[in-house]
Amino acid sequence: MPPKDFCPLCPTKSDKVVTEIPRDNYDIVVFENKFPTFSRTPGRLDSNESTSERSILSYSKMQSRGICEVVCYTQEHDLYLEDMPLQKICNLIKVWQDRYLNLGSKNFIKYVFIFENKGKEIGVTLSHPHGQIYAFPYIPPVVLEELSSSKKFYKKNKKCLHCTIIENELKDKRRIVIKNEDFIAFIPFYAGWPYEVHIYSLRHIGSICELIEQEILSLSVIIKKLINGYNNLFGFRMPYVMVIHQKPTDGRDYIYYHFHFEFYPPYRTKNKLKYMAGCELGAGTFINDTLPEEKAAELKEIVDKI
Ligand SMILES: [Zn+2]
Ligand SMILES: [Zn+2]
Ligand SMILES: [Zn+2]
Repeated sequence: MPPKDFCPLCPTKSDKVVTEIPRDNYDIVVFENKFPTFSRTPGRLDSNESTSERSILSYSKMQSRGICEVVCYTQEHDLYLEDMPLQKICNLIKVWQDRYLNLGSKNFIKYVFIFENKGKEIGVTLSHPHGQIYAFPYIPPVVLEELSSSKKFYKKNKKCLHCTIIENELKDKRRIVIKNEDFIAFIPFYAGWPYEVHIYSLRHIGSICELIEQEILSLSVIIKKLINGYNNLFGFRMPYVMVIHQKPTDGRDYIYYHFHFEFYPPYRTKNKLKYMAGCELGAGTFINDTLPEEKAAELKEIVDKI
């Protein structure tokens, strides 16, 4: 935790207090993480296992070569994503497009993972509104599993899995939280968290880069409404994890995959958190004692007033 009166993500206002951003003002800023998980120049792998002692068990290793970036949404220390004017959220979406293209074009990057951790409940140490980007040297396992399910479904039905989910949700209606011309936000049938919301583009596209101007605006409206809905639910800024799932950047064809957002807020009620505990961690089974239809109706009523 930095000292209370120092925020490394605020602009540098004086020579004495230099932050991560050496400017006295900024709009949106992206820079490489000072304490990165992946590095552009990782250390060499040590190959000290002698071949004569080779066991039937072998661990595979690779260099942790990748790029980690921080995205500061605004220079205002207390202006969160949901407080920002729509035009500014549109600009942020364009920054995400730019980073996806730029990082994804590097041959050692296979996946561009854009996400935001928000709130101390999630373990966030800097409250200044910001998100992160991990450019992975491999496709991370959650995405790999989604890709595999999507591919299987596509092969069997000649249709996109996510487009089919959208059709079902539009027919059923009970799990929809917000819908506009270009996006649908709903609590999926298979939600692990009580207020888990997924945002799908109505048009079948694989990445954020394929969004056109009108869709960028529609998306910013949905994001703003959803997060404000979360905040109005219990009367405090809802912490959450927000992730963007999109096609890998390894040059392969992912026609069967569909671009979307996922939000995981950890609260079950105003003063109860849901924890990842024995069953979730050790048995891979999410226990959710609420129905997505009920929670979606609750959230929809609040969002409709915004
Ligand atoms: Zn700040
Ligand atoms: Zn689709
Ligand atoms: Zn997903």
